[in-house]
Order: sequence, then C-alpha cells, then structure tokens
Amino acid sequence: MIALPEAHRFPTAKYALLRDAVLAEGIVRAEHLHDPARAPLEDVRRVHDAAYLDRLVRGTMPAAEQRLVGFPWSEGLVERSFRASGGTLEAADRALRDGIAMNLAGGTHHAFADRGEGFCVLNDVAIAVRALRAAGRVGRVAIIDLDVHQGNGTHALLAADDASYTFSMHGRRNYPFRKVAGRLDVELEDGTQDTEYLERLSAALPGVLASARPDLVFYLAGADPHEGDALGRLALTFDGLMKRDALVLELARSIGVPVAIAIAGGYGRDIRDTVRVHCNTARIARDFLA
Ligand SMILES: [Zn+2]
Repeated sequence: MIALPEAHRFPTAKYALLRDAVLAEGIVRAEHLHDPARAPLEDVRRVHDAAYLDRLVRGTMPAAEQRLVGFPWSEGLVERSFRASGGTLEAADRALRDGIAMNLAGGTHHAFADRGEGFCVLNDVAIAVRALRAAGRVGRVAIIDLDVHQGNGTHALLAADDASYTFSMHGRRNYPFRKVAGRLDVELEDGTQDTEYLERLSAALPGVLASARPDLVFYLAGADPHEGDALGRLALTFDGLMKRDALVLELARSIGVPVAIAIAGGYGRDIRDTVRVHCNTARIARDFLA
C-alpha cells in the first residue's frame, strides 16, 4: 500500500479488495494465490534506463517527474512497482506451464524506458517479454491491450521488436493524447457500448493472432471501459466486459496459446464496480483453466 493524499484519484484500495474478493467468492483457493517477489533488477534493466532506475530506487525523482508519474515518491511506491512487475513475470511463467495465469496487479503500460507516467512506473509487460526471451522461454509474443487508455509506453518499448505484436483498442479522445503507434490500434469514440465494442474486437482479434503467431499472449484486461468508470468515457456493461474477456481467452485457446493476464486500470466512481470487473475476469480465466 502506498500512502496518498485523501483526494487522490488512484484507487490503491482496489488491489486488496480484489484479492479479498477472489478468495471470498471461491474463485481462487488461498494456496493458489502467491505474493510475487520483486522483479529482479537484472530483468528491469533490460527495459528501463539506468539513470531513471537510479532516481526511482534512490528517491531522487524531481517533483515534475513525480507529477508525471502521478504518485509522490515513496519506498512503498518502489516496492509496489517492482512487485507488480514480478507478478506479471510470475503470471507469464505460470501461463507457459498451465495455460492461463493472472496477476492481480500490473498492466502498467504508460511506463517508457526513461520515465513513468499515467500512474505507471515500470513497464511490467515489456520486462516480462525481455526476461522470457533472455531465458529462451518464448520467441514471439502478442500484447492484447484492452485497457481504455492506449498502451503508449509498451508500444514505444516494443516498436523495434519484430517478434512482439502490440495491439491496443482504446478511447480515441482519451489519455494519452499523443498516441504511440502499435502494430494495430483500434480507436473508439466516447460512449461506445457493448455491441459495437465486441464487434470491433471480434473483427480485429483473429488477424492479430494470425499475424502475431505468438508463443504467449499478454492480455491487459483494464476495467476502465466500464460505464461506471470516472476516466474511461466508454459505456460497457459488466456483461459486455465479461464477453470481452471470454472472446480473448476463447481465441487464444482455439490456437493453443497460453495467456498471462494483468489487470491494468480501473477508476470506478464506485470502487466496487472496478473490483467487480477485475473479479469477473478472474472468474472467467479460472473457468477456462478448469
Ligand atoms: Zn487505463
């Protein structure tokens, strides 16, 4: 947990609430829930610049840099960032063995090599991609980023990597206002509802997977396309988001590709809505695993 001013709009409580909910609802048994270790510095260094990491770890980030990230620096922020990246690494490792695994955090796709922004400090997915490559565990990967905000940091980090296919479907008028092109970007207008969303996704995904030919999919299952989200500007229902999750997992299963899920963003006007969306993703993933 990181200490934030009272009115801060980032819902840090959602992580603990989600953990409680997946246990209380019997989606995950306690022995299958792991506290991730910190991502090894060696793995983080494959993605992030030494000078940025030095400022982050030592706590010497200037005020302007902290504002760009959206969090005041603290030891807790560093710990959480390294552990959330460790969670995505572990989820990828488990997915390669079991077919599907989920990090109940992560999806910090606005982090670039030399800076964080938009509540993202370290780019967990890029860290996992490079770590798994270095270990010879994967060749080609696909990133299916369905957070409502474009995965600009991930796109920039993997732009020169021909073996990583980056796909993002997001709000056209939403943050980040200067998008960074991925391999495929689908832009949605404000107020987009379930039917159109699912049609656009169904139209795009088969081509994404056919072009990507991935050994592993990273799925960023953001809760912020939900109609109750304060920042999302779209109008998806709980049901629509569950169909979204099922569509991604079904297509991946149809070609026998494992999926590592990270939760990414969610800023519900009622935090319980955000937790509900993430919890539904976990339930669907569990059902696919069974
Ligand atoms: Zn988001």
